[in-house]
Amino acid sequence: MKYDVIVVGAGTAGLVAGSLLAKEGRRVAIVESHRYLGGRAMSHRHRGHEIGLGSHLVEDPGDSLSRACEYIGVTMEHSERSDSMPFWDRNGWKPIQEFYGGAAKQGLKRCIEAVTGTEYSELDNWDHASLREWMAQYTNDEGVFLVWEAISVLEQITFRWWEHSASENLYTRKLHYEKKRTAGYSFWPMGGWEKLWNEMAESFTAMGGEVLQPETVERVVVEERQVKGVELRNKEDRERPGTFLEADQVVINAPVWDLSKLFDEGVLPWDLQQRIRLLANNRNKACWLGYWIAAKEPVIASSEREMASFFATPRTGMPGFTLNFTGYDPSISPEGEYLTCFGAAFDATEHYGDRQWYDSMFKKLWLDVEDMLPAAKHALWKKPHIVTTYGVICKPGLVGSVRPDTYVRGLEGVWLTGDTTRARGIGIDKAARSGITAAEAVLGKRLPFFADTVRY
Ligand SMILES: Cc1cc2nc3c(=O)[nH]c(=O)nc-3n(C[C@H](O)[C@H](O)[C@H](O)COP(=O)(O)OP(=O)(O)OC[C@H]3O[C@@H](n4cnc5c(N)ncnc54)[C@H](O)[C@@H]3O)c2cc1C
Repeated sequence: MKYDVIVVGAGTAGLVAGSLLAKEGRRVAIVESHRYLGGRAMSHRHRGHEIGLGSHLVEDPGDSLSRACEYIGVTMEHSERSDSMPFWDRNGWKPIQEFYGGAAKQGLKRCIEAVTGTEYSELDNWDHASLREWMAQYTNDEGVFLVWEAISVLEQITFRWWEHSASENLYTRKLHYEKKRTAGYSFWPMGGWEKLWNEMAESFTAMGGEVLQPETVERVVVEERQVKGVELRNKEDRERPGTFLEADQVVINAPVWDLSKLFDEGVLPWDLQQRIRLLANNRNKACWLGYWIAAKEPVIASSEREMASFFATPRTGMPGFTLNFTGYDPSISPEGEYLTCFGAAFDATEHYGDRQWYDSMFKKLWLDVEDMLPAAKHALWKKPHIVTTYGVICKPGLVGSVRPDTYVRGLEGVWLTGDTTRARGIGIDKAARSGITAAEAVLGKRLPFFADTVRY
Protein backbone atom coordinates (compact mmCIF):
# COMPACT_ATOMS: atom_id res chain seq x y z
CA MET A 1 0.00 0.00 0.00
CA LYS A 2 1.49 3.33 -1.02
CA TYR A 3 0.23 6.69 0.20
CA ASP A 4 1.05 10.11 -1.17
CA VAL A 5 1.33 11.43 2.39
CA ILE A 6 1.45 9.89 5.83
CA VAL A 7 0.70 12.17 8.77
CA VAL A 8 2.14 11.03 12.11
CA GLY A 9 -0.32 12.12 14.80
CA ALA A 10 -3.94 13.24 14.91
CA GLY A 11 -3.47 16.32 17.05
CA THR A 12 -4.87 19.64 15.83
CA ALA A 13 -2.01 20.17 13.37
CA GLY A 14 -2.12 16.61 12.00
CA LEU A 15 -5.88 16.68 11.50
CA VAL A 16 -5.72 20.05 9.77
CA ALA A 17 -2.77 19.11 7.52
CA GLY A 18 -4.22 15.68 6.67
CA SER A 19 -7.66 17.09 5.88
CA LEU A 20 -6.35 19.83 3.61
CA LEU A 21 -4.19 17.35 1.71
CA ALA A 22 -7.06 14.90 1.31
CA LYS A 23 -9.28 17.71 0.06
CA GLU A 24 -6.57 18.50 -2.51
CA GLY A 25 -6.83 14.94 -3.82
CA ARG A 26 -3.83 13.38 -2.06
CA ARG A 27 -4.05 9.83 -0.77
CA VAL A 28 -3.44 10.39 2.93
CA ALA A 29 -3.20 8.24 6.06
CA ILE A 30 -3.12 9.73 9.55
CA VAL A 31 -1.50 7.42 12.10
CA GLU A 32 -2.43 8.11 15.72
CA SER A 33 -1.16 6.18 18.71
CA HIS A 34 -4.04 7.13 21.04
CA ARG A 35 -7.58 5.78 20.97
CA TYR A 36 -8.84 9.37 20.96
CA LEU A 37 -8.30 12.16 18.47
CA GLY A 38 -7.06 15.66 19.22
CA GLY A 39 -3.74 14.95 20.96
CA ARG A 40 -3.22 17.44 23.77
CA ALA A 41 -6.59 18.96 22.90
CA MET A 42 -8.55 15.74 23.44
CA SER A 43 -11.29 15.74 26.04
CA HIS A 44 -13.14 13.26 28.22
CA ARG A 45 -16.12 13.14 30.58
CA HIS A 46 -15.48 13.30 34.30
CA ARG A 47 -18.49 12.99 36.63
CA GLY A 48 -20.71 14.20 33.81
CA HIS A 49 -18.58 17.22 32.80
CA GLU A 50 -16.47 17.47 29.66
CA ILE A 51 -12.93 18.01 30.83
CA GLY A 52 -10.39 18.95 28.21
CA LEU A 53 -7.09 17.16 28.64
CA GLY A 54 -5.59 20.22 27.11
CA SER A 55 -8.01 22.37 25.27
CA HIS A 56 -9.80 25.15 26.98
CA LEU A 57 -10.64 28.04 24.69
CA VAL A 58 -9.09 28.60 21.28
CA GLU A 59 -7.84 32.04 20.31
CA ASP A 60 -8.61 32.00 16.64
CA PRO A 61 -9.93 35.19 15.07
CA GLY A 62 -10.76 33.25 11.90
CA ASP A 63 -7.30 32.68 10.55
CA SER A 64 -6.50 29.09 11.50
CA LEU A 65 -8.77 26.33 12.83
CA SER A 66 -12.04 28.08 11.90
CA ARG A 67 -10.73 28.66 8.38
CA ALA A 68 -9.56 25.05 8.00
CA CYS A 69 -12.93 23.74 9.21
CA GLU A 70 -14.73 25.96 6.75
CA TYR A 71 -12.54 24.64 3.93
CA ILE A 72 -13.32 20.99 4.64
CA GLY A 73 -17.02 21.59 5.35
CA VAL A 74 -17.01 21.08 9.12
CA THR A 75 -19.22 23.46 11.08
CA MET A 76 -17.52 24.85 14.14
CA GLU A 77 -19.89 27.07 16.05
CA HIS A 78 -18.09 29.67 18.16
CA SER A 79 -19.43 30.19 21.67
CA GLU A 80 -20.17 33.73 22.73
CA ARG A 81 -17.00 35.59 23.64
CA SER A 82 -15.80 36.42 27.11
CA ASP A 83 -17.48 39.58 28.34
CA SER A 84 -14.99 40.71 30.99
CA MET A 85 -11.44 40.40 32.17
CA PRO A 86 -11.27 40.70 35.94
CA PHE A 87 -7.82 40.97 37.46
CA TRP A 88 -7.00 39.99 41.07
CA ASP A 89 -5.47 42.82 43.05
CA ARG A 90 -4.49 41.58 46.53
CA ASN A 91 -7.93 42.01 48.11
CA GLY A 92 -10.33 41.47 45.30
CA TRP A 93 -11.21 41.35 41.61
CA LYS A 94 -11.23 44.54 39.56
CA PRO A 95 -12.07 45.06 35.89
CA ILE A 96 -8.77 45.30 34.02
CA GLN A 97 -9.77 48.74 32.69
CA GLU A 98 -9.33 50.18 36.20
CA PHE A 99 -5.58 49.66 35.93
CA TYR A 100 -4.95 51.97 33.01
CA GLY A 101 -7.30 54.95 33.33
CA GLY A 102 -6.76 58.59 32.30
CA ALA A 103 -3.54 59.52 30.51
CA ALA A 104 -2.37 55.91 30.52
CA LYS A 105 -5.01 55.16 27.89
CA GLN A 106 -2.92 57.12 25.39
CA GLY A 107 0.03 54.79 26.08
CA LEU A 108 -2.13 51.77 25.33
CA LYS A 109 -3.40 53.43 22.17
CA ARG A 110 0.19 54.07 21.02
CA CYS A 111 1.06 50.40 21.60
CA ILE A 112 -1.97 49.25 19.60
CA GLU A 113 -1.17 51.64 16.74
CA ALA A 114 2.46 50.55 16.74
CA VAL A 115 1.73 46.83 16.67
CA THR A 116 -0.92 47.10 13.97
CA GLY A 117 1.47 49.26 11.94
CA THR A 118 4.29 46.71 12.17
CA GLU A 119 4.75 44.01 9.52
CA TYR A 120 4.50 40.42 10.78
CA SER A 121 7.99 39.74 9.43
CA GLU A 122 9.43 42.56 11.57
CA LEU A 123 8.22 40.81 14.72
CA ASP A 124 10.92 38.19 14.11
CA ASN A 125 13.46 40.84 15.17
CA TRP A 126 11.96 40.73 18.67
CA ASP A 127 12.38 37.00 19.29
CA HIS A 128 14.98 37.65 21.98
CA ALA A 129 13.21 40.51 23.72
CA SER A 130 10.49 40.76 26.34
CA LEU A 131 7.11 42.31 25.69
CA ARG A 132 7.86 45.10 28.17
CA GLU A 133 11.03 46.09 26.31
CA TRP A 134 8.97 46.55 23.16
CA MET A 135 6.14 48.40 24.97
CA ALA A 136 8.60 50.73 26.74
CA GLN A 137 9.14 52.44 23.38
CA TYR A 138 5.57 53.77 23.60
CA THR A 139 4.68 54.00 27.31
CA ASN A 140 6.14 53.82 30.79
CA ASP A 141 2.81 53.29 32.50
CA GLU A 142 2.73 50.24 34.79
CA GLY A 143 -1.02 49.85 34.23
CA VAL A 144 -0.54 49.54 30.48
CA PHE A 145 2.24 46.98 30.95
CA LEU A 146 -0.11 45.10 33.28
CA VAL A 147 -2.89 44.77 30.70
CA TRP A 148 -0.85 43.01 28.04
CA GLU A 149 1.26 41.11 30.55
CA ALA A 150 -1.89 39.79 32.24
CA ILE A 151 -3.01 38.52 28.83
CA SER A 152 0.37 36.84 28.43
CA VAL A 153 -0.15 35.03 31.74
CA LEU A 154 -3.49 33.76 30.41
CA GLU A 155 -2.28 32.85 26.95
CA GLN A 156 1.36 31.94 27.14
CA ILE A 157 1.57 30.86 30.81
CA THR A 158 4.67 33.02 31.17
CA PHE A 159 4.82 35.06 34.33
CA ARG A 160 7.80 37.32 35.02
CA TRP A 161 7.98 40.52 32.99
CA TRP A 162 11.24 39.52 31.32
CA GLU A 163 9.73 36.16 30.33
CA HIS A 164 6.75 37.39 28.31
CA SER A 165 7.93 37.00 24.71
CA ALA A 166 7.64 40.20 22.69
CA SER A 167 7.23 38.53 19.30
CA GLU A 168 4.68 35.88 20.35
CA ASN A 169 2.50 38.33 22.25
CA LEU A 170 2.73 41.05 19.62
CA TYR A 171 1.87 38.58 16.88
CA THR A 172 -1.32 37.62 18.70
CA ARG A 173 -2.31 41.20 19.58
CA LYS A 174 -1.76 42.30 15.97
CA LEU A 175 -3.75 39.41 14.52
CA HIS A 176 -6.65 39.92 16.90
CA TYR A 177 -6.79 43.70 16.57
CA GLU A 178 -6.66 43.43 12.79
CA LYS A 179 -9.19 40.64 12.38
CA LYS A 180 -11.58 41.27 15.27
CA ARG A 181 -10.72 44.75 16.59
CA THR A 182 -10.05 43.40 20.07
CA ALA A 183 -7.00 42.42 22.13
CA GLY A 184 -8.03 38.78 22.33
CA TYR A 185 -10.83 36.88 20.60
CA SER A 186 -11.30 33.46 22.18
CA PHE A 187 -14.14 30.97 22.08
CA TRP A 188 -15.22 27.46 22.94
CA PRO A 189 -16.39 25.23 20.07
CA MET A 190 -20.05 24.60 20.88
CA GLY A 191 -20.64 20.91 21.59
CA GLY A 192 -17.07 20.43 22.77
CA TRP A 193 -13.71 19.38 21.42
CA GLU A 194 -14.33 15.66 21.07
CA LYS A 195 -17.25 16.36 18.76
CA LEU A 196 -15.11 18.67 16.63
CA TRP A 197 -12.19 16.26 16.25
CA ASN A 198 -14.56 13.40 15.38
CA GLU A 199 -16.31 15.54 12.76
CA MET A 200 -12.97 16.51 11.24
CA ALA A 201 -11.95 12.86 11.05
CA GLU A 202 -15.30 11.95 9.44
CA SER A 203 -14.84 14.65 6.83
CA PHE A 204 -11.26 13.45 6.23
CA THR A 205 -12.40 9.87 5.66
CA ALA A 206 -15.23 11.02 3.41
CA MET A 207 -12.56 12.68 1.25
CA GLY A 208 -10.73 9.34 0.91
CA GLY A 209 -8.35 9.66 3.90
CA GLU A 210 -7.64 6.83 6.33
CA VAL A 211 -7.19 7.16 10.10
CA LEU A 212 -5.05 4.31 11.43
CA GLN A 213 -5.69 4.21 15.16
CA PRO A 214 -4.43 3.15 17.63
CA GLU A 215 -1.15 2.64 15.80
CA THR A 216 2.22 4.09 16.69
CA VAL A 217 4.89 5.11 14.22
CA GLU A 218 8.10 3.54 15.49
CA ARG A 219 10.38 5.04 12.88
CA VAL A 220 10.35 7.35 9.90
CA VAL A 221 12.22 5.47 7.19
CA VAL A 222 14.73 7.58 5.27
CA GLU A 223 17.12 6.28 2.64
CA GLU A 224 19.72 8.43 0.94
CA ARG A 225 18.07 11.52 2.42
CA GLN A 226 14.69 10.74 0.83
CA VAL A 227 11.78 9.62 2.98
CA LYS A 228 10.42 6.18 2.05
CA GLY A 229 7.56 5.89 4.53
CA VAL A 230 7.04 4.86 8.14
CA GLU A 231 7.39 1.70 10.14
CA LEU A 232 4.59 1.00 12.61
CA ARG A 233 5.31 -0.39 16.06
CA ASN A 234 5.02 -4.15 16.21
CA LYS A 235 2.37 -4.64 18.92
CA GLU A 236 3.37 -8.25 19.63
CA ASP A 237 7.11 -7.71 19.89
CA ARG A 238 8.57 -4.21 19.87
CA GLU A 239 12.02 -5.56 19.07
CA ARG A 240 10.81 -6.91 15.73
CA PRO A 241 9.98 -4.76 12.69
CA GLY A 242 6.37 -3.67 12.34
CA THR A 243 4.33 -3.02 9.21
CA PHE A 244 5.94 -0.70 6.69
CA LEU A 245 3.74 1.97 5.09
CA GLU A 246 5.20 3.50 1.96
CA ALA A 247 4.87 7.22 1.18
CA ASP A 248 6.78 9.94 -0.65
CA GLN A 249 5.94 12.54 1.98
CA VAL A 250 5.67 12.27 5.76
CA VAL A 251 4.25 15.07 7.91
CA ILE A 252 5.19 14.71 11.57
CA ASN A 253 2.83 16.14 14.17
CA ALA A 254 4.69 14.68 17.18
CA PRO A 255 5.82 17.46 19.56
CA VAL A 256 9.57 18.16 19.91
CA TRP A 257 9.89 15.90 22.95
CA ASP A 258 8.80 12.89 20.80
CA LEU A 259 10.56 13.87 17.59
CA SER A 260 14.12 12.57 17.80
CA LYS A 261 13.14 9.00 18.60
CA LEU A 262 11.36 8.72 15.25
CA PHE A 263 14.65 9.01 13.32
CA ASP A 264 17.77 6.90 13.14
CA GLU A 265 20.82 8.65 14.51
CA GLY A 266 22.40 11.15 12.17
CA VAL A 267 19.37 11.53 9.92
CA LEU A 268 18.25 14.92 11.25
CA PRO A 269 20.67 17.81 10.65
CA TRP A 270 22.95 18.25 13.67
CA ASP A 271 21.88 21.81 14.45
CA LEU A 272 18.20 20.88 14.29
CA GLN A 273 18.88 17.95 16.61
CA GLN A 274 20.49 20.33 19.12
CA ARG A 275 17.63 22.81 18.92
CA ILE A 276 15.13 20.00 19.46
CA ARG A 277 17.12 18.90 22.52
CA LEU A 278 16.99 22.43 23.96
CA LEU A 279 13.26 22.85 23.32
CA ALA A 280 12.40 19.38 24.61
CA ASN A 281 14.15 19.95 27.92
CA ASN A 282 11.58 19.67 30.73
CA ARG A 283 12.82 22.97 32.10
CA ASN A 284 11.47 24.68 29.00
CA LYS A 285 7.90 23.49 29.42
CA ALA A 286 4.97 25.71 30.31
CA CYS A 287 3.57 24.23 33.53
CA TRP A 288 0.80 24.82 36.01
CA LEU A 289 -0.96 23.32 39.01
CA GLY A 290 -4.70 23.52 38.89
CA TYR A 291 -8.07 22.48 40.19
CA TRP A 292 -11.13 21.45 38.24
CA ILE A 293 -14.08 22.55 40.38
CA ALA A 294 -17.72 21.52 40.00
CA ALA A 295 -20.43 23.34 41.93
CA LYS A 296 -24.14 24.08 41.98
CA GLU A 297 -23.44 27.77 41.38
CA PRO A 298 -20.90 29.36 39.01
CA VAL A 299 -17.46 29.59 40.63
CA ILE A 300 -16.42 32.91 39.12
CA ALA A 301 -14.75 36.23 39.81
CA SER A 302 -17.47 38.49 38.47
CA SER A 303 -19.27 37.17 35.39
CA GLU A 304 -20.06 33.80 33.86
CA ARG A 305 -18.08 34.28 30.64
CA GLU A 306 -14.96 35.98 31.86
CA MET A 307 -11.24 35.50 31.31
CA ALA A 308 -9.91 36.21 34.79
CA SER A 309 -6.24 36.39 35.66
CA PHE A 310 -3.87 37.22 38.50
CA PHE A 311 -0.17 37.82 39.04
CA ALA A 312 -0.04 36.29 42.51
CA THR A 313 -2.47 34.26 44.61
CA PRO A 314 -2.39 35.30 48.29
CA ARG A 315 -0.49 32.26 49.65
CA THR A 316 1.36 30.60 46.76
CA GLY A 317 2.30 33.88 45.04
CA MET A 318 1.74 32.08 41.72
CA PRO A 319 0.25 33.79 38.65
CA GLY A 320 -2.55 32.25 36.64
CA PHE A 321 -6.09 32.17 35.34
CA THR A 322 -9.59 30.97 36.11
CA LEU A 323 -12.31 30.06 33.67
CA ASN A 324 -15.91 28.88 34.04
CA PHE A 325 -16.50 26.54 31.09
CA THR A 326 -20.23 26.09 31.62
CA GLY A 327 -20.72 29.81 31.02
CA TYR A 328 -19.45 29.31 27.47
CA ASP A 329 -21.28 26.06 26.73
CA PRO A 330 -23.91 24.69 29.17
CA SER A 331 -23.88 21.32 27.32
CA ILE A 332 -20.53 20.44 28.84
CA SER A 333 -21.98 20.11 32.38
CA PRO A 334 -24.91 18.21 33.89
CA GLU A 335 -28.03 20.35 34.34
CA GLY A 336 -27.67 22.70 37.29
CA GLU A 337 -23.91 22.21 37.69
CA TYR A 338 -20.98 24.43 36.69
CA LEU A 339 -17.39 23.59 35.86
CA THR A 340 -14.47 25.92 36.56
CA CYS A 341 -10.76 25.47 36.01
CA PHE A 342 -8.30 27.37 38.18
CA GLY A 343 -4.65 27.20 37.09
CA ALA A 344 -1.51 28.64 38.67
CA ALA A 345 1.70 28.64 36.64
CA PHE A 346 5.02 27.51 38.07
CA ASP A 347 8.59 27.79 36.91
CA ALA A 348 9.73 24.46 35.44
CA THR A 349 13.37 25.43 35.80
CA GLU A 350 12.87 25.35 39.58
CA HIS A 351 10.09 22.89 40.33
CA TYR A 352 9.58 20.43 37.45
CA GLY A 353 8.92 16.97 38.93
CA ASP A 354 9.25 18.13 42.56
CA ARG A 355 6.42 16.12 44.18
CA GLN A 356 6.93 17.53 47.65
CA TRP A 357 6.71 21.05 46.36
CA TYR A 358 3.58 20.19 44.33
CA ASP A 359 1.88 18.72 47.43
CA SER A 360 2.58 21.74 49.58
CA MET A 361 1.48 24.14 46.83
CA PHE A 362 -1.76 22.26 46.20
CA LYS A 363 -2.74 22.70 49.86
CA LYS A 364 -2.03 26.43 49.82
CA LEU A 365 -3.60 26.83 46.41
CA TRP A 366 -6.95 25.45 47.52
CA LEU A 367 -7.09 27.94 50.40
CA ASP A 368 -6.31 30.65 47.84
CA VAL A 369 -9.08 29.41 45.54
CA GLU A 370 -11.58 29.64 48.39
CA ASP A 371 -10.49 33.19 49.16
CA MET A 372 -10.50 34.34 45.55
CA LEU A 373 -13.63 32.46 44.41
CA PRO A 374 -15.78 32.02 47.54
CA ALA A 375 -18.37 29.85 45.73
CA ALA A 376 -15.64 27.17 45.60
CA LYS A 377 -16.25 26.55 49.32
CA HIS A 378 -19.45 24.77 48.30
CA ALA A 379 -17.82 22.67 45.58
CA LEU A 380 -19.45 19.33 44.78
CA TRP A 381 -16.00 18.03 43.98
CA LYS A 382 -12.56 19.31 43.10
CA LYS A 383 -9.89 17.58 41.05
CA PRO A 384 -6.28 18.68 41.34
CA HIS A 385 -4.12 18.39 38.24
CA ILE A 386 -0.55 19.10 37.21
CA VAL A 387 0.07 20.28 33.66
CA THR A 388 3.48 19.77 32.12
CA THR A 389 2.55 19.24 28.48
CA TYR A 390 0.95 22.57 27.54
CA GLY A 391 3.89 23.17 25.22
CA VAL A 392 7.34 24.67 24.98
CA ILE A 393 7.23 27.88 26.97
CA CYS A 394 7.18 31.00 24.80
CA LYS A 395 9.99 32.87 26.49
CA PRO A 396 12.37 35.16 24.62
CA GLY A 397 15.06 32.96 23.08
CA LEU A 398 12.74 29.93 22.82
CA VAL A 399 10.52 31.26 20.03
CA GLY A 400 10.90 32.02 16.35
CA SER A 401 13.88 30.71 14.45
CA VAL A 402 15.13 28.50 17.29
CA ARG A 403 12.03 26.34 16.71
CA PRO A 404 12.05 23.69 13.97
CA ASP A 405 10.81 24.88 10.59
CA THR A 406 8.21 22.95 8.62
CA TYR A 407 10.88 22.13 6.08
CA VAL A 408 13.81 19.96 7.19
CA ARG A 409 16.94 21.06 5.38
CA GLY A 410 18.59 18.23 3.45
CA LEU A 411 15.77 15.70 3.84
CA GLU A 412 13.37 15.17 0.96
CA GLY A 413 9.74 14.60 1.89
CA VAL A 414 9.92 15.16 5.68
CA TRP A 415 7.79 17.97 7.11
CA LEU A 416 7.27 19.06 10.72
CA THR A 417 4.10 20.53 12.12
CA GLY A 418 2.51 21.43 15.44
CA ASP A 419 2.64 24.05 18.19
CA THR A 420 6.25 23.29 19.10
CA THR A 421 7.45 24.28 15.62
CA ARG A 422 8.08 27.81 14.39
CA ALA A 423 4.38 28.64 14.03
CA ARG A 424 3.15 31.69 15.92
CA GLY A 425 0.01 32.15 17.98
CA ILE A 426 -1.20 30.21 20.99
CA GLY A 427 -1.87 26.53 21.60
CA ILE A 428 -4.54 25.15 19.31
CA ASP A 429 -4.55 28.23 17.11
CA LYS A 430 -0.81 27.91 16.61
CA ALA A 431 -1.07 24.16 15.91
CA ALA A 432 -3.82 24.71 13.31
CA ARG A 433 -1.83 27.48 11.60
CA SER A 434 1.16 25.16 11.44
CA GLY A 435 -1.05 22.41 9.96
CA ILE A 436 -2.08 24.76 7.14
CA THR A 437 1.56 25.72 6.52
CA ALA A 438 2.59 22.05 6.41
CA ALA A 439 -0.15 21.13 3.93
CA GLU A 440 0.84 24.04 1.69
CA ALA A 441 4.50 23.01 1.94
CA VAL A 442 3.69 19.47 0.81
CA LEU A 443 1.59 20.82 -2.06
CA GLY A 444 4.33 23.29 -2.95
CA LYS A 445 1.87 26.19 -3.25
CA ARG A 446 -0.35 28.46 -1.25
CA LEU A 447 -4.00 27.48 -1.33
CA PRO A 448 -6.07 30.44 -2.55
CA PHE A 449 -8.62 29.85 0.23
CA PHE A 450 -5.89 30.61 2.80
CA ALA A 451 -4.12 33.35 0.82
CA ASP A 452 -5.09 36.10 3.25
CA THR A 453 -4.10 34.15 6.35
CA VAL A 454 -0.77 34.67 8.05
CA ARG A 455 1.75 32.02 7.11
CA TYR A 456 4.40 30.75 9.52
C1 LIG B 1 -3.77 21.10 30.19
C2 LIG B 1 -3.64 21.85 28.90
C3 LIG B 1 -4.43 22.96 28.69
C4 LIG B 1 -4.33 23.67 27.49
N1 LIG B 1 -5.16 24.73 27.30
C5 LIG B 1 -5.19 25.32 26.10
C6 LIG B 1 -6.11 26.35 25.83
O1 LIG B 1 -6.90 26.75 26.67
N2 LIG B 1 -6.13 26.90 24.60
C7 LIG B 1 -5.27 26.49 23.63
O2 LIG B 1 -5.34 27.02 22.52
N3 LIG B 1 -4.37 25.53 23.84
C8 LIG B 1 -4.31 24.91 25.06
N4 LIG B 1 -3.41 23.92 25.30
C9 LIG B 1 -2.39 23.62 24.27
C10 LIG B 1 -2.97 22.80 23.13
O3 LIG B 1 -3.61 21.67 23.68
C11 LIG B 1 -1.82 22.40 22.22
O4 LIG B 1 -1.12 23.56 21.82
C12 LIG B 1 -2.31 21.75 20.94
O5 LIG B 1 -3.29 20.78 21.23
C13 LIG B 1 -1.12 21.12 20.24
O6 LIG B 1 -1.52 20.48 19.06
P1 LIG B 1 -0.49 19.77 18.14
O7 LIG B 1 -1.22 19.24 16.97
O8 LIG B 1 0.67 20.66 17.87
O9 LIG B 1 0.15 18.57 19.01
P2 LIG B 1 -0.51 17.39 19.83
O10 LIG B 1 -1.87 17.73 20.28
O11 LIG B 1 0.49 17.02 20.86
O12 LIG B 1 -0.65 16.21 18.77
C14 LIG B 1 0.37 15.30 18.52
C15 LIG B 1 -0.28 13.95 18.22
O13 LIG B 1 0.71 13.07 17.72
C16 LIG B 1 0.51 11.80 18.28
N5 LIG B 1 1.78 11.08 18.19
C17 LIG B 1 2.98 11.46 18.70
N6 LIG B 1 3.93 10.56 18.38
C18 LIG B 1 3.31 9.61 17.63
C19 LIG B 1 3.77 8.42 17.01
N7 LIG B 1 5.03 8.03 17.10
N8 LIG B 1 2.87 7.67 16.33
C20 LIG B 1 1.57 8.06 16.23
N9 LIG B 1 1.09 9.16 16.82
C21 LIG B 1 1.94 9.94 17.51
C22 LIG B 1 0.07 12.10 19.71
O14 LIG B 1 -0.59 11.01 20.30
C23 LIG B 1 -0.85 13.30 19.48
O15 LIG B 1 -2.17 12.90 19.23
C24 LIG B 1 -3.45 23.21 26.48
C25 LIG B 1 -2.66 22.09 26.70
C26 LIG B 1 -2.73 21.42 27.89
C27 LIG B 1 -1.88 20.19 28.10
